[in-house]
Amino acid sequence: MQSDAIIKVIRVPIPTPTLWPHTTTNSYIIGNENESLLVDAGYDQESTRQKLNQAIQENNLATPKKILITHSHPDHAPGVRQLVDWSPIVYCHELEKEAIANAISPVTNLVTIGHHDTLNIAGAQLQVIHGPGHTEGQLNLYIPLLKTLIAGDNIVAEGTTWIGPPEGNMQDYMNTLHTLNKLKMSQIGPGHGDWVHNPYEHIEFVIKRRIHREKQILAFLTDHEQLSSADLTKMIYEDSIHPSIFGVAQRTTEAHLIKLIEEKKVAKQDSQYAKINKDF
Ligand SMILES: [Zn+2]
Repeated sequence: MQSDAIIKVIRVPIPTPTLWPHTTTNSYIIGNENESLLVDAGYDQESTRQKLNQAIQENNLATPKKILITHSHPDHAPGVRQLVDWSPIVYCHELEKEAIANAISPVTNLVTIGHHDTLNIAGAQLQVIHGPGHTEGQLNLYIPLLKTLIAGDNIVAEGTTWIGPPEGNMQDYMNTLHTLNKLKMSQIGPGHGDWVHNPYEHIEFVIKRRIHREKQILAFLTDHEQLSSADLTKMIYEDSIHPSIFGVAQRTTEAHLIKLIEEKKVAKQDSQYAKINKDF
């Protein structure tokens, strides 16, 4: 029975050598000594396995036989390769199935799962949430018993998560943030960084940051007849970003522009963007 279930959720930061500015990616183990679920398997390297086994022992948890992968990125999915001898069932969203199948091969026991599906782990019901934005098939997991959301890369502890085309979609992301904000939460387990203990404030901060960015872009396009996404990125960040990540920042700007084009507030011709002036 749900009310009798006693489960823990343990955050396990997994070293991620290639990822800037994050140096670790979070895995989570949810359950107890009888049964547990792993959410995200980190990077494909030996230390992933060591960190997970250490957390399992220290917290007296059963070795996970089920793994839920939030999305296909190299710091979240391929660590499954280190866990072949767990013989796990791996869950993911249909839209990421192909990418994840490639990322976790030779593990082939891949099952698709979607919005409102539930997983029963150690007597507790866990709710699957499809939260597209960072990627199309991003899954989140909500644990009602602990009022805890495991948010994948929809939420990062420091700053805001990266949204950029072709995988990312800003409109989807904003919708997802509003969906997540309606959950009863006492904490969020982010994709990177420490537990977030002020979930509503944090989500509000991310929403405000995105709205601010969008207003900035519209203001620049009001002052200039037309601008490229590189022009806009230079104006937004001034000189505050390192040249090595300029391309990444530019794609974030483009994600905003795509949303504004869909809303018919901005038009694109060749590589130039212009504001559409409305009379109402
Ligand atoms: Zn990611």
